[in-house]
Amino acid sequence: MTRAAIALLMLATFAPLGAQSGSDAAQREAHEILAEMIGINTSLDRGDVTPLAEKLAARFRAAGVPEADIAVIGPEEKNRNFVVRIRGKGDDKPVLFLAHLDVVDALREDWTVDPFTLLEQDGWYYGRGTIDDKGPATTLVAGALALVRSGVQPKRDVILALTSGEENGDEPGVEWLLKNHRQLVEAAYVFNFDAGGPAIDHGKLAWLELQSAEKVYWSVTLSARNAGGHSSLPRKDNAIYQMAAALRRLEAFRFPLHLTEISRAQLAARAAFVPAREAAMIRAAIAVPMRATAVERLAALSPAYNALVRTTCIPTMLRGGHAENALPALAEVTVNCRFVPGESAEQTMRVLRRVVADTGIVIAEINPAKPSAASPLLPERLALVRAASMATWGRELPITPVQENGATDGLFFRNAGIPVYGLYGIAMPVDENRLHGRDERIPVKSFVEGVVFATALIRAAANE
Ligand SMILES: [Zn+2]
Repeated sequence: MTRAAIALLMLATFAPLGAQSGSDAAQREAHEILAEMIGINTSLDRGDVTPLAEKLAARFRAAGVPEADIAVIGPEEKNRNFVVRIRGKGDDKPVLFLAHLDVVDALREDWTVDPFTLLEQDGWYYGRGTIDDKGPATTLVAGALALVRSGVQPKRDVILALTSGEENGDEPGVEWLLKNHRQLVEAAYVFNFDAGGPAIDHGKLAWLELQSAEKVYWSVTLSARNAGGHSSLPRKDNAIYQMAAALRRLEAFRFPLHLTEISRAQLAARAAFVPAREAAMIRAAIAVPMRATAVERLAALSPAYNALVRTTCIPTMLRGGHAENALPALAEVTVNCRFVPGESAEQTMRVLRRVVADTGIVIAEINPAKPSAASPLLPERLALVRAASMATWGRELPITPVQENGATDGLFFRNAGIPVYGLYGIAMPVDENRLHGRDERIPVKSFVEGVVFATALIRAAANE
């Protein structure tokens, strides 16, 4: 699509939208849905996702979506996923919007307010899941309902999948849906409303993060075994010393620098928002051809920069010995790696063996890695995001592609060959991080704008 065509499309599709989804009735309903979401404890320990999934299903039923296009589905009665399809003309493969309904549990005594009652106070909405991920999920529900009620059949199907089992990486969620009901969630690509998003920097709406790749999670155990014996008769070989020596070698080692299209773009975008000296360091680091010293200098600035430019492997757990007065028969360490998309577990294993440099230490994979290819930054996808930004804030926020250090449910789609773009429209201050913590909250203004954003993005993607 040309720029002019995009501009035209925006005029045609979005001009009336801001007003419509920002209308009092739509916003009142969004508030009501958010209260319903927060009011149901959907944590694995004490809660259940199914009652919430059923309530959402009822809303789409009431809006006129046929029963055949609504699914409350999972391997068990508890913790079911909600999937709804809004039928289009079938001009293209469906687009899927993803968020999760389960939350990390929260205890009343740890919070200053009730985590499972939506509270509006001083311009904030408080409640478990407001940011992760019920606030973003609510904006999707509001946007999808708006599309249904518009009465205009979109060009392609829109699938909304609000899932379970994200927080504990458990079976009933995305992985299960892809394995058992692929046709329900088969799509050209996915917008994941559990990553990325607009950032408020120094009180100002600054940039919009678009998560397009994530590092791959992979863990191994290092084990040193020994004949053992009585501690009164020490031997030269000792499993704990042996392991300690290997760990010193791992500590001293840095994985090779590996910048990707996404991490370069992320750094380039970041340069516009950091102090001049840091910006200069970033520009030097992303110069082509790569200058290793410049990248290492940037990596040394913070753990975040370091994690962005290379694979990391770090010991996280340590076990060994069995009695105070016995030589250790076993010393064992868990090492957690996050490798850069495009690298492989085999490759990382080879490097680890070389670094450990001790054939007496057995290195074993704990779980197979789930590789997750970077999702291409196609101009037409970026155009949709820009258009939604325009509809919401009256301007195109600078898009910062993000290669995330952590893993999200997006990886299952990427693993299945379906590109995933992580973002939502609820702007959060960069220094505000209560995710999974106490007194989780979102700005009310950001939520209101988030509803407009989701509505615009859904409509744009449905008609692309
Ligand atoms: Zn989440």
